[in-house]
Amino acid sequence: MDQIYAPWRIEWVERDEDPIDGCPFCVLPGRENAREARVVARSDHNYVLLNNAPYNPGHAMVIPDAHVRDWTDLDDATMLDHARLKAATLAATRRAVDPHGFNTGLNLGGGAAGGSVDHLHTHVVPRWEGDTNFMPVVGDTKVIVEAVDRSYEHLHGGFATGDDVVDAGDLEAGEAVRISFGDG
Ligand SMILES: [Zn+2]
Repeated sequence: MDQIYAPWRIEWVERDEDPIDGCPFCVLPGRENAREARVVARSDHNYVLLNNAPYNPGHAMVIPDAHVRDWTDLDDATMLDHARLKAATLAATRRAVDPHGFNTGLNLGGGAAGGSVDHLHTHVVPRWEGDTNFMPVVGDTKVIVEAVDRSYEHLHGGFATGDDVVDAGDLEAGEAVRISFGDG
């Protein structure tokens, strides 16, 4: 029953072709090709990253640009922007993959809470009736990489057709969707 409490034990798995030195959630948004980095959307103070080790297809994370460890460490502007981007992620995911429901939440306190990266992130996990933990079911790394690629395309389209978009981003050119909620 562990998966009910921590369905997102693994947030990010390093792939051989793109080694990262330091915190992955600080490094990935700086990558030139957002598609390869799995960064699907950006707002003023946060961004959306697809999980490299998805619990389910479309498993995304909303992450502040700044390396903060706890919800209580967020400044007001970042917290509001984070909440709005979470809402935008729910809406984009509904448009993209039409799930029956969602799990969304935080692991705070690193390993004790089941997290593996200490840079704050909010999981947004689409759920379907009768689904199971996608990762162990699929297992094969190549299949998972292809599934995350497909999820990226679907979610990119979901974000690009949403509200508050200032730049829909060119999927083929590796550009994330740019969103601004207009409150700096
Ligand atoms: Zn970080």
